[in-house]
Amino acid sequence: MEYRELGRTGLRVSALSFGASSLGGVFRDVDEAECLLTVRVALDSGINFIDVSPYYGLTKAETVLGKALQGVPRDSYYLATKVGRYGPAEFDFSARRVTASVDESLARLGTDYLDLIQCHDIEFGDLDQVVNETIPALRALERSGKVRYIGITGLPLKIFRYVAERTNIDTILSYCHYSLNDTSLEALLPWLAAKKIGVINASPLSMGLLSNRGAPAWHPAPEAIREACARAAAHCRQRGADVARLAVQFSVANPAIATTLVGTASPENLRKNVAWIREPIDQELLSEVLRVLEPIHNQTWPSGD
Ligand code: NAD
Repeated sequence: MEYRELGRTGLRVSALSFGASSLGGVFRDVDEAECLLTVRVALDSGINFIDVSPYYGLTKAETVLGKALQGVPRDSYYLATKVGRYGPAEFDFSARRVTASVDESLARLGTDYLDLIQCHDIEFGDLDQVVNETIPALRALERSGKVRYIGITGLPLKIFRYVAERTNIDTILSYCHYSLNDTSLEALLPWLAAKKIGVINASPLSMGLLSNRGAPAWHPAPEAIREACARAAAHCRQRGADVARLAVQFSVANPAIATTLVGTASPENLRKNVAWIREPIDQELLSEVLRVLEPIHNQTWPSGD
């Protein structure tokens, strides 16, 4: 496993990391024993960064993850969770709520500190409240030792600049913007590097679009994106390859991104993902797939208010 610096935090995170939303059953019904094994496989294969949120499975993902981490030495992994999002349309970035939220997450996760706390999907909140109220409340928790570093997450890239220009943040988590079909995060990377903000890239499979199973019904991508990604998956199948392999390899290959979070509740898929990043990328297949995806390259969907 390759490890990279996460901005100025001093955390050296695995280039591929584990996103625990799947443990909350957001993609399909999941078996708890499989979930516990998936976390074990992740840690055993050198993954040292795990991301979750109280929103995933409405606290279920944090609870299952807490169970999976019981007995694992706390200094052998970095743990990140979030505040502010509690349901599909339930947001609260107030100092009071986020302060209580951190305590609730600590209890579910069975730990007394978080390596990273992130404001979740801030495009649905008031960005000025995040700057003036939420982040100062989290800094107070940092001083009390409950959290070590502070970040923000969301879909529209402009939110990162807005907040980072007004307050100090340690990390950003961007999703669905550095994968085979959308590389728009690239334009922001030099600016983030200059500010020494750690970059976490989530969803190398574009939340299932770049897989043989395809995206779940709730996926927000418009039909044109879904169809193009399905064509890319079919093209890989015809060539005896798996689009998920190419997708994971592609996202992890960019050294300006500290870590790429992949989600799965299947130990087998996690083993594959880790094995794939050790193998060379098929450049010819990559060019072909990028051509298939060219008509929808960098197309996205609206998110937030
Ligand atoms: P992803 O792109 O990692 O795709 C997950 C889907 O791909 C799941 O259906 C999974 O079963 C499938 N998959 C994984 N490995 C596979 C393989 N080898 N073969 C076939 N299918 C495979 O998207 P994600 O899970 O949404 O993102 C990863 C993590 O990033 C999340 O768990 C979460 O922690 C984080 N994230 C955060 C935000 C945010 O903060 N707003 C948004 C999206 C993701």
